[in-house]
Amino acid sequence: MGSFRAVVIEKGEGGQRAALATFDEADLMEGDVTVRVTHSTLNYKDGLALTGQAPVVRRFPMIPGIDFAGIVETSDHPDWKPGDAVVLNGWGLGETHLGSYAEKARVKGEWLVPLPASLTPHQAMAIGTAGYTAMLSVLALERHGLAPGAGPAVVTGAAGGVGSVAVALLARAGWHVLAVTGREQEAEYLRGLGAAEILPRDELARPPKPLAKERWAAGIDAVGSTTLANVLSMTRYGGAVAACGLAAGMDLPTSVAPFILRGIALYGIDSVMAPPALRREAWTRLARDLDPAALAAMTTTIGLDRVFEAAPEILAGRVRGRTVVEIG
Ligand code: NDP
Repeated sequence: MGSFRAVVIEKGEGGQRAALATFDEADLMEGDVTVRVTHSTLNYKDGLALTGQAPVVRRFPMIPGIDFAGIVETSDHPDWKPGDAVVLNGWGLGETHLGSYAEKARVKGEWLVPLPASLTPHQAMAIGTAGYTAMLSVLALERHGLAPGAGPAVVTGAAGGVGSVAVALLARAGWHVLAVTGREQEAEYLRGLGAAEILPRDELARPPKPLAKERWAAGIDAVGSTTLANVLSMTRYGGAVAACGLAAGMDLPTSVAPFILRGIALYGIDSVMAPPALRREAWTRLARDLDPAALAAMTTTIGLDRVFEAAPEILAGRVRGRTVVEIG
């Protein structure tokens, strides 16, 4: 057994501390597959874990990082053999199970998804958990029966990770996309991803009315709180909204009015414990439907040593699109 490079969060009397360290392979947690991690990403949750701003980390020491692309090194699981290219999102990595900001990870075989043949590991992590969550949201809207002919689609937190992928996916599918952003300077970027209209964040930050003028048939919300309440109040009769984030807060100051007077639906999106079949469907669709040029336009790449400075940036809503963390 050897050792490898990892970001390690320790908890001491003065609080938690995250640093690059050498980690002993013998200290990896239980699992039947060991993976050489080549790429991970920076998600909002990774920002919370690295800064300790919310109690995301449930065991110490912890290796943060909630997703990875990598190559199987050893496997006792019937589905995987050495050399297989794999992707993992969630399942408690970086929270309860040692995560992906490391050259090695040991995980359960059933947590892994094959890397789609048309994606490089870098592209898979440019998508990452944020992009896979955006696709889970699109799938929920489709399952509701919604298609571009139903009317426009709104995306909140549009210049962030989930939002950028959601805008690109919906636009490529033919939706008229309204991108809600607090960053005026990202309007051109969002138009480049396919947004038809840009809405200033302030418009959806006002105290929500139970019902307001109907503006869209579908929504993907990465923000929560007052923003989501306003999105619901402006959703057309029979429409649906996928709630996947809480960048503005956990609360939801809404009423039953949009549900009982307009028959709309609110779908909750969870990427962490999503069942394997749904994950495979989402990754297959991402490989097929996401424009590689749009993906490249939303992606920044950093090294493992840069995650510490990037963490507060993503929590402050200052990161554009997606950040890949190159590891091996
Ligand atoms: P990002 O930080 O990349 O994106 C969030 C975006 O939300 C920001 O870029 C900003 O967009 C907007 N925003 C930030 N703060 C506020 C605010 N106070 N009010 C209104 N808008 C705000 O994070 P991710 O895309 O990685 O994640 C987005 C959310 O989705 C997070 O809450 C995350 O926890 C959640 N998430 C949930 C998952 C699930 O399984 N349900 C999986 C992955 C993520 P802009 O500047 O354009 O306004």
